[in-house]
Amino acid sequence: MVLLGSTGSIGRNSLEIAKRFGIQVEVLVAGRNIELLNQQISEFSPKIVVVAQKEDIDKVNHEKVLFGEDGILEAIELSKSEIVLNALVGFTGLKPTLKTLEVGKRLALANKESLVVAGAFLDISKISPIDSEHFGLWYLLNGRPVEKMILTASGGALRDWDISDIADATPQDVLTHPNWKMGRKITVDSASMVNKLFELLEAKWLFSPKSIDGVIERNSIIHSLIEFKDGSTTAHISGTDMKLPIAFALLGEVEEQILPNIDITSIPPIEFEKIETSKYPLWSLKEELLKYPKKGVILNSANDVLVDRFLNHQIKFGDIAKNILEIFDKFGDREPKSIDEVFEIDREIKETL
Ligand code: NDP
Repeated sequence: MVLLGSTGSIGRNSLEIAKRFGIQVEVLVAGRNIELLNQQISEFSPKIVVVAQKEDIDKVNHEKVLFGEDGILEAIELSKSEIVLNALVGFTGLKPTLKTLEVGKRLALANKESLVVAGAFLDISKISPIDSEHFGLWYLLNGRPVEKMILTASGGALRDWDISDIADATPQDVLTHPNWKMGRKITVDSASMVNKLFELLEAKWLFSPKSIDGVIERNSIIHSLIEFKDGSTTAHISGTDMKLPIAFALLGEVEEQILPNIDITSIPPIEFEKIETSKYPLWSLKEELLKYPKKGVILNSANDVLVDRFLNHQIKFGDIAKNILEIFDKFGDREPKSIDEVFEIDREIKETL
């Protein structure tokens, strides 16, 4: 396989699955964690390596090292692998997603932002999503008529905070996720509920459900539920470990144990709570996004910039929601009609912010 984002949270879990199932790793793509990348190179012997910056090439222990966005696209084109696992973060993941589909490879997609911004223009039949909620939905689907899909949210790091304190939360506060160990951006997106808005859009493009919503389930034991037309509701229960969706995305079917089953006699009581806009102001965008899912690019482009600024201590946590809502006021009537317009809107929003 070609692995984009090998040094990240999804990337490292993917390499564990590759090792266990003997999947050859032809290409490793990383950003700036060259120390870990060098360890991965000696363990997996890839044919091509890509790093983010030209200046890091000399530090990489490999004879074929490419760099930057063009390097990633070239490596995908040069590779013989049938599958590309895209675990890059943010809008950066879009061009590699497009290239993978263009050259006819299968896409194991953790980079949910690709689907959020361009779901309308992607061939969904070539994509296996690596997201616990969507894996859960796929697992639950059984051919019977579906009435509604429900995604669960943990509520993120600030779920028990007083509403009046949330706007001033620091990166350190926000990065302490109660249930999952993930990369920094998605952990911030969990606290702001942007992650759940992204996932509603992801589900919309992947499964075209008649109706879809999110609820808080604090333990992250139930990842998603399906209400069937006949009156049955089923739930997907598994541990908080991405190796399960990764294994299915890479292997198609899995009959071995990937995770231990949850001992249902020892779990805390399960409750479902409504997601309140008083605590998560961006949840107020839900209906508009579901009605006009192509507007996902507006949410994503603003969020990419603002989360980065927040993590660099340039703005307050509360400014993420405030500025995204302002951007929606300004750009809310824009819906991309082509993939070129997706890039155009992204550029305009990033220039405005
Ligand atoms: P991380 O931040 O942990 O990892 C990101 C990876 O991308 C790292 O390997 C990083 O390299 C690399 N990278 C960043 N910028 C560049 C660049 N310009 N060029 C090349 N490589 C780059 O993120 P996660 O693994 O948490 O998330 C990846 C994606 O998966 C996101 O879209 C996220 O929303 C999604 N996802 C994640 C889940 C999780 O449990 N973590 C669950 C579901 C979805 P380096 O570190 O070397 O700089």
